[in-house]
Amino acid sequence: MQDCDVIVIGAGMAGASIATELAARQARVIVLEMEDAPGRHTTGRSAALFSEIYGNAVIRALTRASRPRLAEGFMTPRDCLHIASAEQLERLEAYAALPDVAGASRRVSAAEAIALCPILRPDYVAGALAELNAYDIDVDALHQAYLRQIRSLGGAVICDARLERAERTDGVWTVTAGGAAYRAPILVNAAGAWGDVVAALAGVAPLGLAPKRRTIAIVPAPKDGRCDDSPFVVDVDEQFYFKAEAGRIMISPADETPSDPCDAAPDELDVAIAIDRAQAAADLPVTRVLSSWAGLRTFAPDRTPVLGFDAAAAGFFWCVGQGGYGIQTAPAMGGLGAALVLGAAPPAGLEDLDPALLSPARFG
Ligand SMILES: Cc1cc2nc3c(=O)[nH]c(=O)nc-3n(C[C@H](O)[C@H](O)[C@H](O)COP(=O)(O)OP(=O)(O)OC[C@H]3O[C@@H](n4cnc5c(N)ncnc54)[C@H](O)[C@@H]3O)c2cc1C
Repeated sequence: MQDCDVIVIGAGMAGASIATELAARQARVIVLEMEDAPGRHTTGRSAALFSEIYGNAVIRALTRASRPRLAEGFMTPRDCLHIASAEQLERLEAYAALPDVAGASRRVSAAEAIALCPILRPDYVAGALAELNAYDIDVDALHQAYLRQIRSLGGAVICDARLERAERTDGVWTVTAGGAAYRAPILVNAAGAWGDVVAALAGVAPLGLAPKRRTIAIVPAPKDGRCDDSPFVVDVDEQFYFKAEAGRIMISPADETPSDPCDAAPDELDVAIAIDRAQAAADLPVTRVLSSWAGLRTFAPDRTPVLGFDAAAAGFFWCVGQGGYGIQTAPAMGGLGAALVLGAAPPAGLEDLDPALLSPARFG
């Protein structure tokens, strides 16, 4: 039996970031991960974008607050173009008018968009928003840095430790995982797509988390060099996106296919849709698919992350529902999550964010 202050279930970006912030605040932390290594699921499968104008207002606030930590060597600049066809111009204008979107982007003409990304088709693009401060995130470096920091602060990350059962008696959770037992007064659920499954194993009511599959295909970039270094191009209705990198282009149909929690695999039809949508917007000859993968983006019913103690289960803390934003929001989610677990003041940059917006209590 190992005792600690907080047990965290899941060593993806969510579990790693909140565990780091807990350990940094002197909590004794044990992270339990069911796979043989952290990052096998959604964290290892992202598009690695940092965009302060992506997602709803709460996500945008969490993203802005995450920037200082990510800027400590985990990001490289990447232009981001949010493009619209003629039919989408009205929605582009509405989006561009949101105050924080307006402050972080510049409305550009179709000609300017094509100058920034020469493979865009003049007969498709009618206008765009150029984001001023978008980045590629080095996801693996960030994740590994968190995991190292947990250990250097005296915490433990234990793999091959699938939570089997969690029971609370006399104010203490006893957790059985990977054939061993652990005890702590606080249990953090950072199990990604398995969030509701983990809750059920602890006898806690589910939130209705919805894992949704998203696909990515990698294709060779055209050899003429026109998009050796393209911006991240995303359709304003998020119907597809692509970016070029090192002679390759990453394309996604921005699919959201409902899924059970699982080791997600790409569907050939989604790969075909990705290529089709990107080719409608850009002159992008695709001769073959070099690789493809899929991952589960898991959403709460209102598509805002869930961070807070369960109202009905003492000592059970939710850190789930990061959807498609769990990398770019991880520093803020980790810092705020640790503050909420320990009853401390919110970290810098998050003083004005009402924790009730993230609390599981909002679901009644
Ligand atoms: C295609 C795609 C593109 C994306 N692009 C971006 C992007 O550009 N920018 C961005 O910010 N985000 C992006 N995301 C979203 C981001 O990747 C996720 O929000 C984030 O990785 C979620 O992290 P997590 O730790 O919650 O989940 P996970 O990484 O899935 O971690 C959960 C962990 O819990 C473990 N676990 C589950 N059940 C148990 C159990 N019973 N016992 C022990 N361990 C358990 C799992 O093994 C897993 O390791 C993208 C996602 C996808 C799929």
